[in-house]
Amino acid sequence: MLDLLIQNATLADGRKGVCVAVHDGRIVEVSSNLSATAHEIIDAQGHLLSPPFVDAHFHMDATLSFGLPRVNQSGTLLEGISLWGELKPMLTHDALVKRAMAYCDWAVAKGLLAIRTHVDVCDPRLLAVDALMEVKRKVAPFIDLQLVAFPQDGLLRGKTGPQEHFDTLKRALDLGVDVVGGIPHFERTMADGALSVKLLCELAAQRGLRVDMHCDESDDPLSRHIETLTYETQRLGLQGRVTGSHLTSMHSMDNYYVRKLIPLMAEADVHVVSNPLINITLQGRHDTYPKRRGMTRVPELLAAGINVAFGQDCVMDPWYSLGSGDMLEVAHMGLHVAQMTSQAAMRQCFEAVTQNPAKVLGLEGYGIRAGCYADFVILQANDPVEAIRLRANRLRVYRRGKLIAHSSETVSTLHMPGRPSNTAMKHDSTPLSD
Ligand SMILES: [Zn+2]
Repeated sequence: MLDLLIQNATLADGRKGVCVAVHDGRIVEVSSNLSATAHEIIDAQGHLLSPPFVDAHFHMDATLSFGLPRVNQSGTLLEGISLWGELKPMLTHDALVKRAMAYCDWAVAKGLLAIRTHVDVCDPRLLAVDALMEVKRKVAPFIDLQLVAFPQDGLLRGKTGPQEHFDTLKRALDLGVDVVGGIPHFERTMADGALSVKLLCELAAQRGLRVDMHCDESDDPLSRHIETLTYETQRLGLQGRVTGSHLTSMHSMDNYYVRKLIPLMAEADVHVVSNPLINITLQGRHDTYPKRRGMTRVPELLAAGINVAFGQDCVMDPWYSLGSGDMLEVAHMGLHVAQMTSQAAMRQCFEAVTQNPAKVLGLEGYGIRAGCYADFVILQANDPVEAIRLRANRLRVYRRGKLIAHSSETVSTLHMPGRPSNTAMKHDSTPLSD
């Protein structure tokens, strides 16, 4: 007998009336007509059943610190950086764990069950690393949490010399941090930026780890560290294991140069993570008008066959006072900023918060197929585009076949004579036949 049978679900690829059979924490069958006995049978009522949301770029050591020690009054990157500097000496292990765990509760409620978080490794105490390693263990039954060793203050910019942060970064990897990070555009010179990329990729190759760098988070079109990251990926045989996060300078680059760059990135199988909520608020701040959007060239990268994910980056921290772990909000913003409004492009935006970031993280057993983990979300929407439009309610969230969060359908009751008694803002967009 099955543990769980979901009936009458719609899948993100458009299949309707689908049954999903679950046993021992895995999906054992996905088909259109399945009659089997199960301990529990759920009628999905035609709602969208999707694999869980995945966030490929987050900062869990800073999340929910909004207001500590004071509020970012201007909402700018620079005030955010100085605020983080004020907050760092006041951080404690327990407070870091408490805030991260509270965020993970939000994530589960939003069907966000895999997160890659960068963690600052420039602190010789590695306080945030210790705290997030504890969080990773605590949330493991519900969330795949992947940590990136992020030299926030610059790999080669240590107060005692270029070795200081490199040493703390290696110690963080020794403690079990999963991915090698970097921030080449923040090193002192272009040459140091390129050197940091080379050193970090070599370290990742030696240790068999993945790489994910904050790369070219700048409006300077000459910030071209993605070129070096692509080159080192190819040279060291790291294809499919390296991610360039942000890449905002690409927005401002010369088209002629980008035409050479994008095919090289495709050849090296470099992943890209764009962070639309943060890129649209922090970039273009030195412009008068016209103001650049500062988001990387998402449609062009996708058209070249490059895997692009949208990340959340920040939630209620010194840099961004909004956010709730809702990856549909991220997809909604990405869709607008990149003008991805065709029917196909809107569905790509849904993939950019589900299957694409799953590839960035290298998640095993992800998807709605026989053999995959029984991790999925039933949304109060009939298809991926409606899910983005409504930032749809997560009706039921499953991990390894177990219900870990659920909510009631969102319906507004109306009190107007001659009008319906309620609305859920659904709209059947099936074309009228003629
Ligand atoms: Zn970031």
